[in-house]
Amino acid sequence: MTTFADLGLSPKVLSAVTDSGYTIPTPIQAGAIPPALARRDILGIAQTGTGKTASFVLPMLTLLEKGRARARMPRTLILEPTRELAAQVAENFEKYGKNHKLNVALLIGGVSFDEQDRKLERGADVLICTPGRLLDHCERGKLLMTGVEILVIDEADRMLDMGFIPDIERIAKLIPFTRQTLFFSATMPPEIQKLADRFLQNPERVEVSVRSSTATTVTQRLVATHSKDYEKRATLRDLIRAQEDLKNAIIFCNRKVDVADLFRSLDRHGFSVGALHGDMDQRSRTTMLANFKENKLTLLVASDVAARGLDIPDVSHVFNFDVPIHAEDYVHRIGRTGRAGRSGAAFTLVSKRDGKFVDAIEKLIDRKVEWLNGGLDALPPQAEGEEREQRSRSGRERGGRDRDRSRGRKGEARVTETRPAPGIETSETEEKVEAVKAERKTEGRPQTPARSNPRAANHAAPRPANDDNRDRRNRYRRDDDDGPTPLGFGDEIPAFMLIAGKA
Ligand code: AMP
Repeated sequence: MTTFADLGLSPKVLSAVTDSGYTIPTPIQAGAIPPALARRDILGIAQTGTGKTASFVLPMLTLLEKGRARARMPRTLILEPTRELAAQVAENFEKYGKNHKLNVALLIGGVSFDEQDRKLERGADVLICTPGRLLDHCERGKLLMTGVEILVIDEADRMLDMGFIPDIERIAKLIPFTRQTLFFSATMPPEIQKLADRFLQNPERVEVSVRSSTATTVTQRLVATHSKDYEKRATLRDLIRAQEDLKNAIIFCNRKVDVADLFRSLDRHGFSVGALHGDMDQRSRTTMLANFKENKLTLLVASDVAARGLDIPDVSHVFNFDVPIHAEDYVHRIGRTGRAGRSGAAFTLVSKRDGKFVDAIEKLIDRKVEWLNGGLDALPPQAEGEEREQRSRSGRERGGRDRDRSRGRKGEARVTETRPAPGIETSETEEKVEAVKAERKTEGRPQTPARSNPRAANHAAPRPANDDNRDRRNRYRRDDDDGPTPLGFGDEIPAFMLIAGKA
């Protein structure tokens, strides 16, 4: 069996690797390190979690032992699509480069230019950047790229998704053609292949898993759910609670606004949760990530962009709150668990609307994903309230006539939201009905339904004594399942609520 000692790394690097506890290189490391040390270009096709970062950091450290940096002329350049990923690569340099005296500079947005300038002034052996920030520095005339010997382009397919390819082309033009290029991508769509053909000279191709495959150590399941957000949130909560072996989990949403909503919802439901999305400032993102890594938070709600490539060892579960629109994102998301041979579980919430996205994923990974709960056909029929709400929505789309009525329906939906998907146990429906009953009793509110004047019922409902501003603000938000249980149900009171009210 190949060991790290067989790969040609320097003694200093080997000693740091041994200290980190690794003895056997992963397949991408075994495949990429020897040709990288021989100054060959590399085309590495590997998803995150395969040990890909060390596959370029270790040979770079060895090669950098000869020569030294000059002011404003970095010797190597690593391009990363996100700030977190760039910071992670810097951490790898710290870990494996602890026996070296290398100057590693991180150029990412959200950090002051002055601080970064000072580092560049000292001469950087390694420059780790997001493309935009690097170009900003170049445009300020503070950086000379003519001394770059090694260029690393990491997560190229994500660079493409994020629209960074023109920036990368500009950057590549600033670097001598004689450089060594190490190019990594989890998937190889045609655009990336074209880019690789242009940037790489006679590369060593190292492909560590079947293209676009997901790790076999991950148990993947689809979970049927009704399509509305509050129902999906209930399904997710039940699913999370049903996982006995859940250590920590990342929950993916397609849009950052949904990240924020889901985060608030889980928080209010008492989960230990953080969020990561592109609108957060750098400090919050770093703190959030550190808390998650240190197990101070159990759940992390994230968007694809924010979570890209994050090295969070030991994530036991991934939940896809939304089916990803781009099938490749499924592979990346699932890559958060089952890393480096560990086992993991990945659940994807699927509603009737998601069929074509699931088909695309199954086509890409070349296998069918099993249903946890018998599939969409096994879902209990839509509750009356939901059908009415959908009708109401069409009404709004026609001219917004039903706005007030739909608020009432929303309230109803809050109470009926917790119909579990089959195979998932829950007692929340009962809990909520009990809560409504109790609230009615303690506050002595009129038991008569607001059928006669739904608008008044919704707007004039008195607040509980302990209601604070936050609750007030959220009370009438559409699609919010977390405020106090509403008391007015418009003209759509569910039958069981009427019985409860008379009791
Ligand atoms: P990466 O694919 O670079 O994000 O690495 C994924 C995880 O694998 C990281 O937590 C690394 O610390 C870990 N790792 C890297 N190399 C090895 C190795 N040779 N053996 C076991 N784990 C490793």
